[in-house]
Amino acid sequence: MRDHRSIEELLPAYVLDALTGEDLECVRAHLSACGDCREEVDRLRAATDALLADVPRHDPPPDLRDRVIDSLDAIPRTDADDTTYFATAIAAVRSGWRALPAFVAY
Ligand SMILES: [Zn+2]
Repeated sequence: MRDHRSIEELLPAYVLDALTGEDLECVRAHLSACGDCREEVDRLRAATDALLADVPRHDPPPDLRDRVIDSLDAIPRTDADDTTYFATAIAAVRSGWRALPAFVAY
């Protein structure tokens, strides 16, 4: 069982639909019991929606997604914070372009 603090760190990725497996299950279980984290999710979703509303829509070049993922995969990961950050970035890109502007703001 993860504590409130460790779940809080996963909330931005949760809002971006970038969590899977055990991380996703832990966040869902925690949210059912923690009003503070539910409020944070609501705040993050509002910020994400506001960012997306201001972003002009353009189709990216067809190979951009693969180039971004390859670039992120090539970056050495040396500590836990970086691992979480890059894993979140890669998951955001893989989950779809909709999540990318919100991740950049994160
Ligand atoms: Zn909490």
